[in-house]
Amino acid sequence: MTEEGTARSQPTSTTWPQRRRPAAHPNAVALRPGYHSPQVEVETRLNTNEAPEPPPQRFLAELAAAVAEVHANRYPDRAALALRAAIAAHHGVTPEQVFCGNGSNEVLQCLFMAYGGAGRTALVFEPTYALHSHIARLTATEVIVGPRDEHFRVDLPTAFDLLGRVAGEHGEAEPSITMLCSPNNPTGGAEARETVEALAGAVPGLLVVDEAYAQFAPFSALDLVAEQPSVAVTRTFSKTWAMAALRLGYLVAHPDVVAACEQVVLPYHLDAVKQIAGVLALQYDEEMRARVARLLEQRNRVAAALVALGLESWPSDANFILFRVHDRDSAEVWQRLVDHSVLVRDVSGWPGLEGCLRVTIGTAKENGRFLQALEAALLETGRPAP
Ligand code: PMP
Repeated sequence: MTEEGTARSQPTSTTWPQRRRPAAHPNAVALRPGYHSPQVEVETRLNTNEAPEPPPQRFLAELAAAVAEVHANRYPDRAALALRAAIAAHHGVTPEQVFCGNGSNEVLQCLFMAYGGAGRTALVFEPTYALHSHIARLTATEVIVGPRDEHFRVDLPTAFDLLGRVAGEHGEAEPSITMLCSPNNPTGGAEARETVEALAGAVPGLLVVDEAYAQFAPFSALDLVAEQPSVAVTRTFSKTWAMAALRLGYLVAHPDVVAACEQVVLPYHLDAVKQIAGVLALQYDEEMRARVARLLEQRNRVAAALVALGLESWPSDANFILFRVHDRDSAEVWQRLVDHSVLVRDVSGWPGLEGCLRVTIGTAKENGRFLQALEAALLETGRPAP
């Protein structure tokens, strides 16, 4: 049997002759191994900033009943009108200012497809959410990296300087996209209103403010959308709305930005189930706020405990805390935590975050387990806890 014949009956990669195998585009290859947080089987998962509590039972029951009525043989509402109207009402904007996607990651991808691309540039301030530069590269957008100050905030004079340099080197219209993550993942702090306002007035293209953790923050750039057409705010149902499994996110921006995203997104990308789920979820706003309040209480507890353990940590405006294990190997501490069945995020390889781990705030019980495991891990890896 020829090699091709074998391939037909047994289509495995080993039978695909190298010389005939198409190579993935360099944009994709450059991303290897891609963005992911290791999914390890443990009892306490505090590595991906999800809500530790499920959404209300009543919401789940209503969702199940509504899903039973879906005409599965028909395509969903392509324009997701009911969902966009519900989100618009929630924020006091118009449905024309709302675009929805399969998680805010897809929304960001649409923004980059619409406004980035070959020959264009995006400005990011590192360390920040790794997907921003990942998506930029996937869409062949050149990434310009700006620094953060010692508190991991964007420093305005430095940012202005950088904007001027990018415009000088790449043309007046660049960067096409300036990314802000507020509160910033993985460092936790939100940008001050003045910073966002000043940048919104200064950028030549879009200022995309990723507000995945907005409900924990003192300020939202949504306040600026009405007066600053450069501002696009992205939000997600994955965190405070306790719907990570359902993959729903959105942006609020000028209607032109929404129209541009609609031009690049695939038809019928939003399935009927998540459209229903989004509308229903917003009816449980009070419950969501109560979950946020419980997390804030727990965040204070974890923050105080990290200080008591003598660890450096950063003030958080989100549902996670960044901390540093100075005189130990953070990878070893991470492994010891896993051995104690607690999973946190090892961010020590991110720019400027040597020795740092990020813990998501969980339920009181989960946080208790984390703190106990951390104390044990610190003891096992060197310096005794005070
Ligand atoms: N932005 C930030 C800052 C995030 O931390 C995340 C989730 N890790 C996302 C966007 C993406 O969220 P999703 O795609 O689930 O909406």
